[in-house]
Amino acid sequence: MQEARNNPDVGVDPIDLRTLTRGQLVDTLKELGQPAFRAKQIEEWVWEKGATSFDDMTNLPKALRATLSSRFTLGGVQQAARQVSEDGSRKYLLRYADGTAVECVGMPSGNKLAVCVSSQAGCAMGCAFCATGAAGLTRSLTAAEIYDQVMHVRDDFDTRVTSVVLMGQGEPFMNYDASLAAMRKLNSPDGLGIGARHITVSTCGVIPAIKRFANEPEQFTLAVSLHSAVQRTRNALMPGVRKYSLMHLYEVMGEYVDKTGRRPTYEYALIRGVNDTEDELGALCDFCRDNLAHVNIIQLNEVKGSRFQPSSDARAGEFVRRLASVGVEATIRQSRGQDIDAACGQLKQRMR
Ligand code: SAH
Ligand code: SF4
Repeated sequence: MQEARNNPDVGVDPIDLRTLTRGQLVDTLKELGQPAFRAKQIEEWVWEKGATSFDDMTNLPKALRATLSSRFTLGGVQQAARQVSEDGSRKYLLRYADGTAVECVGMPSGNKLAVCVSSQAGCAMGCAFCATGAAGLTRSLTAAEIYDQVMHVRDDFDTRVTSVVLMGQGEPFMNYDASLAAMRKLNSPDGLGIGARHITVSTCGVIPAIKRFANEPEQFTLAVSLHSAVQRTRNALMPGVRKYSLMHLYEVMGEYVDKTGRRPTYEYALIRGVNDTEDELGALCDFCRDNLAHVNIIQLNEVKGSRFQPSSDARAGEFVRRLASVGVEATIRQSRGQDIDAACGQLKQRMR
């Protein structure tokens, strides 16, 4: 397993080399009397091979490796816990050098491997049904820290990662720059080379960030956690986005579709007696018809101590049928790793 590395030889905190831009890395190497191509060599080690030590970088001169390791760290994570589900998915609690821990999940199926990563440790949005929301925000992650989760899962499964979702802990659009930089690195041929359409970011609906995201050139996939198309219900379930009305969200998503031509996903976790009533279903159909929506009906994962309960499977089926009857594509998301607490935030809750 990869260990967090700290260098005892330096008086100041060494910088994580992965936070440097290509330009900054080239400048640093120039200062050290090194040619520019060294930057590419180092980046290959860091982003493609996932090196956690400068000693691994065997095509660099020994003296340079020593200098770099006196000045920089390579981040890295420690595995604090790992659970393996009967269905093959694996959930990890990973700890960064400062002690902050986040979770991520690897979900294999056939020759595919999907990875779910966290964008923040905790979350400030306070959704009523979410274990992460209940704990509040610890801090945002850097792009490299988000990327590290994918590398960790890749190394543990020892196979290629075919898709990534930013659906673990945290609100990626409250940590926009780092989340986008991580997605770009995952997409880049200099990183893991995962197709942009196979990289999905999920937001609770931070409107200024959705507008910004619509202008990004990559074909990344966008998922919006809707959970109710009735303003009062949504306000109660998702207080963190109360200031962005459903009407405004509807408008902005229309602009997103016009601009990108891409189909957004709406996530809808069914909660018995709260957002699974006839009125709620009617409002959901109205919100989603004619706007290229794909609706993901999710069975609520029960959070310990929560007053919310999942709806019946029959009700979930009814939602899908009714959405289909007004021309809206909808599926029921298979919940993976039920037996290992793979629900958002639950492993961490347990490890405390
Ligand atoms: N903050 C982002 C992404 C992380 S949460 C967002 O909210 O979209 C990933 C998904 O898990 C979201 O759709 C979220 O609403 C959902 N979720 C949170 N708690 C859940 C629970 N107890 N059961 C089912 N889904 C849950
Ligand atoms: Fe945060 Fe998403 Fe959980 Fe809401 S559902 S509290 S936005 S992680």
